Formats: sequence, structure tokens, C-alpha cells
Amino acid sequence: MRLTFERLSGGCNLHRCKLCGKVVTHIRNHYHVHFPGRFECPLCRATYTRSDNLRTHCKFKHPMYNPDTRKFDNQFVASQSPTASQIAAASQAAMAAAAAAAANAFNAAQQQSQSNSTSE
Ligand SMILES: [Zn+2]
Ligand SMILES: [Zn+2]
Repeated sequence: MRLTFERLSGGCNLHRCKLCGKVVTHIRNHYHVHFPGRFECPLCRATYTRSDNLRTHCKFKHPMYNPDTRKFDNQFVASQSPTASQIAAASQAAMAAAAAAAANAFNAAQQQSQSNSTSE
């Protein structure tokens, strides 16, 4: 689906459809204009012809993902439409938080050593 749309700079989640040139905000909605009857799992790209089949798939394969709201049941909900990279992003966010905490500790230690050295 990503290949069908080109993300426009400037935020606001604007995408241009490469098939018809229309600028849309909800690429998933617009995608079905060109590919009706295809329901793609945003997490693993499995496609189904019926939305309830996709819903069943998500229920078993991705129990934390709600295909109706297109959101995850727990906290890591991104503002843009969910993508396959969202799972990776969620785990990356956890890692980034840990890294940030480590970096803060490192900076604090460095500032301390700097103030020590300037007092010499
Ligand atoms: Zn289009
Ligand atoms: Zn899936």
C-alpha cells in the first residue's frame, strides 16, 4: 500500500495517490477506491477479501491490535494510520526511552566532570 501513496512533506499526514494524483489524508480509505474488497492487515500484510476475516486474523495473530479502531489496545498509539513498522516503532520507543535515560545519566556525569575540571 505504501507504494501506492507518496507522503507529502509538511505534516498533516497528507499523501498523494500515485494512481490518480489525489491528495488524501486517509490512505486506507482511498486505497479501497482502487482496490475494492481487499482488506490488508497493516501488521503483517496479509490480505483478505472480507473485513470480518481480517478481524478474525487480527484477533488471533495480533490480539493487541483492534482493526475496527485501527489502534492498539494498549498505549503506543501513533497519530498517523498504523503501519507494519508500528510494532517495530513501539519496541524502538521503549529502547529509545531507555537510551534517553542512559544519555541523561551520561550527560549529568559529564557535566559533573567538566565542572570539576574547570575548578582546577
Ligand atoms: Zn487514487
Ligand atoms: Zn496480521
